[in-house]
Amino acid sequence: MAGRGTSRSPRMVRGSVVTHRRRCGKPTCRCAGGEQLHESTVLSYSERGRTRFVMLPPAKVAAVQAAVERYRAAQATLEAAGEAGRAELITGLGAARGNR
Ligand SMILES: [Zn+2]
Repeated sequence: MAGRGTSRSPRMVRGSVVTHRRRCGKPTCRCAGGEQLHESTVLSYSERGRTRFVMLPPAKVAAVQAAVERYRAAQATLEAAGEAGRAELITGLGAARGNR
């Protein structure tokens, strides 16, 4: 795949897709009553200890959500492998000690 252009989404994205609901501040707007708030979907992520948001255009939301889920699945697999490796190491160290 060439991967050219900006319409293509990355395979993995670290962050969370969240919906923000807010009032725009115009007294005549439908949101003024506090029930029909404006919704915007954003990618929330932390960078150098600060939480940041980037707006997602509606056409991008599904692809970004899928990429976030792929990242989480890969992260969970990696963590499980690391945990299993450590358990194996500790078991091995214990067996080596026990054999002496
Ligand atoms: Zn409004």
